[in-house]
Amino acid sequence: MKQIKDKKIAIIGAGPGGLTLARLLQMNGFEVNVYERDVDENARPKGATLDLHDESGLAALREAGLMDAFKANYRPGADRTRIIDQHGEIIFEDNDNQNREDFRPEIDRGPLQKILLDSLKPETVIWNSHFEGLKRNGDSWLIEFKNGKLLAADIVIAADGANSKIRPYITPIKPFYAGVTIVEGAVYASATSSPEMHKLLNGGKIFALGGEKSLIVSSKGDGSLVFYTGCNTTENWVKESGINFSDKLQVINWFKNEFSDWDPIWLELFENASTGFVPRPQYCMPLDQNWSSLPNLTMLGDVAHLMPPYAGEGVNMAMLDALELSNCFKDPRYNNSGEAIFAYEKQMLKRASETADITMQSTAALHSTDAINFMMNIMGME
Ligand SMILES: Cc1cc2nc3c(=O)[nH]c(=O)nc-3n(C[C@H](O)[C@H](O)[C@H](O)COP(=O)(O)OP(=O)(O)OC[C@H]3O[C@@H](n4cnc5c(N)ncnc54)[C@H](O)[C@@H]3O)c2cc1C
Repeated sequence: MKQIKDKKIAIIGAGPGGLTLARLLQMNGFEVNVYERDVDENARPKGATLDLHDESGLAALREAGLMDAFKANYRPGADRTRIIDQHGEIIFEDNDNQNREDFRPEIDRGPLQKILLDSLKPETVIWNSHFEGLKRNGDSWLIEFKNGKLLAADIVIAADGANSKIRPYITPIKPFYAGVTIVEGAVYASATSSPEMHKLLNGGKIFALGGEKSLIVSSKGDGSLVFYTGCNTTENWVKESGINFSDKLQVINWFKNEFSDWDPIWLELFENASTGFVPRPQYCMPLDQNWSSLPNLTMLGDVAHLMPPYAGEGVNMAMLDALELSNCFKDPRYNNSGEAIFAYEKQMLKRASETADITMQSTAALHSTDAINFMMNIMGME
């Protein structure tokens, strides 16, 4: 039987989870490629900044030998946090987190992706490879792509994010609706196009909370800002609301109405938005999910444990999955990929369940009447 090192590993999805795994496997001598649906690394605008946690995201980067690259690209000061009420009053601000024990440095998604891509051997990522389906091929797999290409691989790792097409090959378990829908937008060149918000943001993050709603705003290194509202809604609100989210005026009218108990200062974000708005109902994988491991197919990141962003754990969990899976693949205690995948999934499911629990509590609390107190508590200020 082939050793894992002699097997051809295909990772589907070049998000932070898939790329971190590729780096960790490649540096340990595994044969690995990443198949990504985007045509190249610049195909899509990249989202908000991400705070990396010492025990997960940063632990993976340390193991990947990428801390120098991280230090050259992270954004000192971007972790500055302001908690603001719906009337625009600053309740709390945290200007110097560097010395906090739980300091969580921020990096933009684009530079993080670039660090990981640059760390891989040329041609590791095969762009324009939109996964369509899997077929068994003896002990291995035949992967079908939208462009008609077929590929044989011994081990397949699903890292294709929230709406994974591979997850159903492992388990029929589906995510449940988490009760909150996000509406996301961006303002380019915020210093000139949204000066009041830019000033309020102060190069960091705003958590605006009140009336059982949230508005989270983050600055980005390219001079833009990104923001998302969070509201308690029904699962099908996006459809039922009848709003055309690419029509700015319709979204402005919705905001004025839905946030009528908020100060008009927040409207500046919507009036100056540079792109269309994206509504995102939030889902979470069941906390007690479990399945029988397969010997040569597994998953990581949002595929495995999609959860709302209200504890800032998604990227960190995806990168820690990559670290744990690569550790299992190289662990001499496991004789084959089946044993390694079983060990990885066991610890991943336990950890994901604990984090999803915290995240769901945070999601509910930030959209409750007690949101500000909850957030103050998190910042250690009760
Ligand atoms: C509004 C918002 C704010 C967030 N804020 C934070 C935060 O502050 N901190 C945090 O830690 N997390 C945050 N998250 C969550 C975080 O973005 C995800 O948890 C994280 O990106 C998961 O990484 P991943 O590698 O598993 O998947 P992804 O980043 O989703 O990457 C999946 C990759 O797979 C590719 N792909 C998809 N389908 C296919 C296919 N069929 N074939 C080939 N390729 C495919 C995609 O193009 C993508 O490149 C936020 C999420 C949202 C929506």
